[in-house]
Amino acid sequence: MAYTTFQEIDSIYQQQQQYQDSAKHSTAAQRLKLLKQLLAALKAKEDAIQKALYQDFHKSAMETAITEQFAVEFELKHIIKHLRKWMKNRSAGRSLMLPNVRAYLHFEAKGQALIITPWNYPFQLPMFHLAASVAAGNVTMLKLSELAVHTNQVVKEIIQEVFPIAHVAVIEGEVAETSYLLNKRFDHIHFTGSPAVGKIVMAAASKHLTDITLELGGKSPAILDKNVALETAVKNIIWAKFVNAGQTCVAPDYVLAPRQLKLQLEQAFKTEIEEAFGKNPQHSPDFARIINEKHFKRLSQALEEAKPLGTQVLTGGDMDAKECYIAPTVVSNVAMNNSLMQEEIFGPILPIVYYNQINEAIKFVNGKEKPLALYIFSKDDKFSNHVLRHTSAGSTCINDAMIQIMHPNLPFGGVNNSGLGQSTGWYGFKAFSHERAVADVKLLPVSKVFWFPYTEKTFKILR
Ligand code: NAD
Repeated sequence: MAYTTFQEIDSIYQQQQQYQDSAKHSTAAQRLKLLKQLLAALKAKEDAIQKALYQDFHKSAMETAITEQFAVEFELKHIIKHLRKWMKNRSAGRSLMLPNVRAYLHFEAKGQALIITPWNYPFQLPMFHLAASVAAGNVTMLKLSELAVHTNQVVKEIIQEVFPIAHVAVIEGEVAETSYLLNKRFDHIHFTGSPAVGKIVMAAASKHLTDITLELGGKSPAILDKNVALETAVKNIIWAKFVNAGQTCVAPDYVLAPRQLKLQLEQAFKTEIEEAFGKNPQHSPDFARIINEKHFKRLSQALEEAKPLGTQVLTGGDMDAKECYIAPTVVSNVAMNNSLMQEEIFGPILPIVYYNQINEAIKFVNGKEKPLALYIFSKDDKFSNHVLRHTSAGSTCINDAMIQIMHPNLPFGGVNNSGLGQSTGWYGFKAFSHERAVADVKLLPVSKVFWFPYTEKTFKILR
């Protein structure tokens, strides 16, 4: 697929600049019409989306339906259901200090938005954030990742069916094209990707003091208590870790477990992985592949480098470069300076780290950057609350994994190194809107109270 040229980017940018007032002043009915058209267009392309995700990731139709199609459909329906209410002014309540003032928040579109997305959920992520931007009344340039080429084609077709380029335009390209975009002035930049590129985006945004949302990644731990429903916990971790072959930003990156559970836990991982994917997961129709050779090499090298340093492969470890296949792999005894314990894994390799006391595990987590997600598995609320209160993460799920991102009323977002700002649902609408503070003075303007020259009377009123 040909990348968008710089001249095309300039032309789209100008067209959107001119169209932004129309988008900004569009009514709820006009925005709803577009969102409904988007929903219909993507439903009509169900087969094409599934085929594209299979070509990009070898992803099963069911997994594509759950993690990409249904997720987007739910999000769109949620926005459609609530948009009229969200667009209304919100009262800020009364103040005794200012009884004469009607205070409210007015939601206005920011204007020109730039959305930059990664490759790992190449349908869901562009659609989620685009829906929020359109709902808020912005014009949008949507820069897709260059890696998921088949899915990008379908995303582009759907968007072109629904929106004129002056309203929403897909930009294709890699570093050069993104850097060119980032030199322009936008009113909001929404970036999803790695913390390293997030810093580049933030630096570029600072030149124009552009507002940003950064949805980043990190090492998300799953912490187990000794008092745990072990089989269920292991199954939940397996699903969240191996869906999309581990290429999920909120996948459990590593497990922290009490040492006394070692034998049972390792056996449970072996048994449940075999039950999920069979004796040879390469033949499982449900197990996806690594996006490309570069990421396959990154993961295979990390595993190979870890082995001579004492890492034990408890299950998995098989690889096939021709297919970019890496088996669901669980390892233990990984050296802490190995990249598996230093970098976000973003693939189907799961290290287990054992602890003696929970505060040791908490110290370990707090010694790293704040993660995007943190999972707690325990039958004991005291344990869960202790971990919750003594750690920080973008989001947490207790006794399951990834469910927190499916709840329509919870925001999606990280903290510090794992992200800035929040997305999805109401929070996505807010991110793409400016919440303008309005004080509507009904009676008694301030000049009736404070006026020059100041006198003793002014002090008396204030006291
Ligand atoms: P990435 O940061 O390499 O790329 C993201 C986007 O930035 C792509 O569109 C890419 O073309 C562009 N880009 C890459 N290098 C650039 C540069 N030097 N200058 C300007 N633009 C550049 O990330 P990725 O490999 O596509 O995705 C994986 C990362 O994304 C992981 O860290 C993962 O955790 C994170 N992620 C986060 C979320 C979330 O919602 N928090 C969701 C999915 C993925």
